[in-house]
Amino acid sequence: MEMKWMTMEDVRILAGSGIPVIVPFGTVEEHGPHLPLSTDTLQAYEIALRSSAITPAIVAPPIHYGQCSSTRNHPGTITLTGDTLRALSGDLIRSFSRQGFKKIILFSGHAGSIHMAALREAAQMNVDKDPSLEVAVVCDLDLLRESAADLLETPGDGHAGEIETSRILYLYPDRVGDPPEEEYPQSVHKRVVPDPERYWPGGVCGNPRAASPEKGRLLVERTAMALAKITKSFCEG
Ligand SMILES: [Zn+2]
Repeated sequence: MEMKWMTMEDVRILAGSGIPVIVPFGTVEEHGPHLPLSTDTLQAYEIALRSSAITPAIVAPPIHYGQCSSTRNHPGTITLTGDTLRALSGDLIRSFSRQGFKKIILFSGHAGSIHMAALREAAQMNVDKDPSLEVAVVCDLDLLRESAADLLETPGDGHAGEIETSRILYLYPDRVGDPPEEEYPQSVHKRVVPDPERYWPGGVCGNPRAASPEKGRLLVERTAMALAKITKSFCEG
């Protein structure tokens, strides 16, 4: 159920019931010349909704901004720092807890390492302080790799490639432009550089031309099922 439509009374009834809350996290980030900036948020929210239809959960309004490193200089990326994201997600965990929701899943549509580390650190700090809390931190790409790898044609597919283009083709077909050529970031041998855009000017990692709406449907459904399994494990204690 979508929290944005709930009322004070709905919360009064559900608080303390043990129902898990899924908080979707996304980004405002370039996704090549063909996908919208809010791709990560849109995917995370839609997958969370489908998951909550399989195993009941409250789907919180999404967090539209995240931490982006390698795309930060491409046009369209608006990033938080890891510190801000950690503080924000910590505030949310504590506020849901205060309202009586102790089972919280931070579900990210963005897999960046600093972004995920910020969410994990916020979760860790809060469960250490409050043992009544149960928090899971998971990103869609992890769930997808374990549940739907057989559907993918492109080795090493990632940002704005086969996976994301397929999902947006399925979810928002009118919002997908002409897919560009396959592109992979050049290796910089683990160096941290000030100008990562030089090494993948098109802002794509993978092959958007291998995408299809049907593949997108299967990727969304399987990821939702994998997320529902995590929610179910929360309900079973
Ligand atoms: Zn993305």
